[in-house]
Amino acid sequence: MKVHLVVAHPEKTSFNLALHQVAISTFKNRDINTSVSNLYTEEFVAIAGHTDVLDFPEDENFNLAKAQRWAQKNNSFVEDIKTEQQKLLSSDMLILQFPLWWWSYPAILKGWLDRVLSSGFAYGDGAELGRKKVMYSITTGGANNQEELEYYQQKIAGLYQDVFGFIGWQVMPAFIAHGVQQKSQQERTIILNNYEKHLQKQVC
Ligand code: FAD
Repeated sequence: MKVHLVVAHPEKTSFNLALHQVAISTFKNRDINTSVSNLYTEEFVAIAGHTDVLDFPEDENFNLAKAQRWAQKNNSFVEDIKTEQQKLLSSDMLILQFPLWWWSYPAILKGWLDRVLSSGFAYGDGAELGRKKVMYSITTGGANNQEELEYYQQKIAGLYQDVFGFIGWQVMPAFIAHGVQQKSQQERTIILNNYEKHLQKQVC
């Protein structure tokens, strides 16, 4: 069992990074192998396009999905994409750790999805990657009532379905930490402990 963790938060003292550290120590204690991509510290390029593929034929119209399939066949992805894809190939499960921004992924993580989960590698005919497990660990601005909580559930289910449901991965229950900025230190410590329990139940 190997887990690949992708973290998308710009601040190392953030609650997102604290959750990430809980995951790392939980897996270490259970002898589960991990690899990590911290997208901000690695300055991961978030914009998908021409520069993702080396030597794409000049006389061909550039269509991203087509260029990705071409790069897959010709071993022509740029290094950062190759590195990320290799981490996925050697893992059984992916954990995405991120704050909910505009009801979605931070742009740097959306870019990771666009560039790394490429056509012909993660999905489509003959896709090399195969189907893995995926789990989201998300922080939010906070829900004030049951109705808002249900709205979050619905939006987060959509984020799963639109990407990982589409490519046929096994979707694990998300860990959602609501309103962490409004909580007391003690309440946040409880959330971190609950995350450890969630991981032990869902992953270990
Ligand atoms: P932080 O501010 O980093 O941390 C919260 C608190 O936890 C801080 O006081 C920190 O010191 C403390 N902390 C850190 N480590 C620990 C630890 N080990 N133990 C205890 N406490 C600790 N929210 C929504 O709900 N929907 C949206 O659509 C949405 N859109 C947004 C768009 C943008 C561009 C932005 C910037 C925010 C948006 N938000 C939205 C809010 C956002 O989701 C939250 O601000 C974010 O999830 C909070 O997580 P954080 O890691 O950034 O918190």
